[in-house]
Amino acid sequence: MAGMTQNPPNLRPDLAPKARIENTARAGQPKIGMVSLGCPKALVDSERILTRLRAEGYAISPDYTDANAVIVNTCGFLDSAKAESLEAIGEALRENGKVIVTGCLGAEEEYIRGTHPSVMAVTGPHQYEQVLDAVHAAVPPDPDPFIDLLPATGVSLTPRHYSYLKISEGCNHKCKFCIIPDMRGRLASRPAHAILREAEKLVDAGVKELLVISQDTSAYGLDRKHDLNPWKDREVRSHITDLARELGQFDAWIRLHYVYPYPHVRDLIPLMADGLILPYLDIPFQHSHPDVLKRMARPAASAKTLDEIARWRDVCPDITLRSTFIVGYPGETETEFRHLLDWLDEAQLDRVGCFQYENVAGARSNDAPDHVPSEVKQERWERFMEKSQEISEAKLAAKVGQTLAVIVDEVDAEGATCRTKADAPETDGNLFIDENFENLSAGDIVNVVVDEASEYDLWGKLES
Ligand code: SF4
Repeated sequence: MAGMTQNPPNLRPDLAPKARIENTARAGQPKIGMVSLGCPKALVDSERILTRLRAEGYAISPDYTDANAVIVNTCGFLDSAKAESLEAIGEALRENGKVIVTGCLGAEEEYIRGTHPSVMAVTGPHQYEQVLDAVHAAVPPDPDPFIDLLPATGVSLTPRHYSYLKISEGCNHKCKFCIIPDMRGRLASRPAHAILREAEKLVDAGVKELLVISQDTSAYGLDRKHDLNPWKDREVRSHITDLARELGQFDAWIRLHYVYPYPHVRDLIPLMADGLILPYLDIPFQHSHPDVLKRMARPAASAKTLDEIARWRDVCPDITLRSTFIVGYPGETETEFRHLLDWLDEAQLDRVGCFQYENVAGARSNDAPDHVPSEVKQERWERFMEKSQEISEAKLAAKVGQTLAVIVDEVDAEGATCRTKADAPETDGNLFIDENFENLSAGDIVNVVVDEASEYDLWGKLES
């Protein structure tokens, strides 16, 4: 398909001329090939997968026969793109045999398996973790702690300036709308030193922002009984407060996602006030009404969240709070929904996302009584969005005139797209610079005076 973005030829097993292959793998290092088809977003996914694989000790093979397995990142937008994806999968199967399919066409597993029943795994777009799981199953990682796993040189795909850092897998909760614990099992935290080593390699390789992710970040280390792990000249407890403090030593922005409002989250706030980690908490509250939260079986359902939020803001007035909510959960009454709107008014969260409740195959909430009719869900969603937009607009308007540090994500002919500390990549807003941006590059952190605001985004000029 014309205009397709593909990973550089010297990394593509299907395009690389044999003479150009540079084999930089150490002896015995597991090797993965990648064929990336589709739009720039898919290329970003491919880069991220490769970056993670490198960090885990895999080499990237530009040769089908040398690779232990091949990932094909597909496009399924047009029929022609589907055909090309199927063809690429067929070629990888013929030349290598061990093929993991991901990307947009991955959402149509039956379609792929109809032509190519022998592919090892099929995952959809942005399912990095599932792709990594499939690679682990096909070719176990073999990291060598004495060799730089992610050297600054030798990685042909430049790591992006931000990277996700997964600290645990699975979850011990049983929220009724969620099937993750059934799919991923119980909480399994990585040892603190493994996380810190990965973070160190990423930062050494140029990553400027680390996004800490898991299913339940505040529960980190519970399964390990918060054991001590050797790191450098000290021992680090596998506890989120200790881990966050250590991550704060790196020269990078540290952003915490999926934190539940347990009491010990209070201990993270001074680290934010001291500038060790970003003053940003992504807390999936999902609802405010205690009865709805109980019916959802949410962790920390009884927490007095408004009091907690006030306490956090006392310690760190600049803190940005982001959250997601579900409206129209089975049994949600108009009174319960209004409770949520009033709560939003009080909580004044900076960034919110809202979903209308939907059944998910296998979730226990499917059988809950009193499902909310879809027109009521839609109407509540609109009221919710109106309220949250008002709050966001007022919060952003208050930033006009302030000088803020921003990280540059992208520079093109029009300007520089950046984010403030209050904005996580891919989910929150942006700050745009459209004058004197020519010398900026992705990953730069600069100070900007904000001169304009909309509901979700800001504009500004470089501080002189
Ligand atoms: S905390 Fe709840 S929603 Fe989140 S992964 Fe665990 S069960 Fe699912």
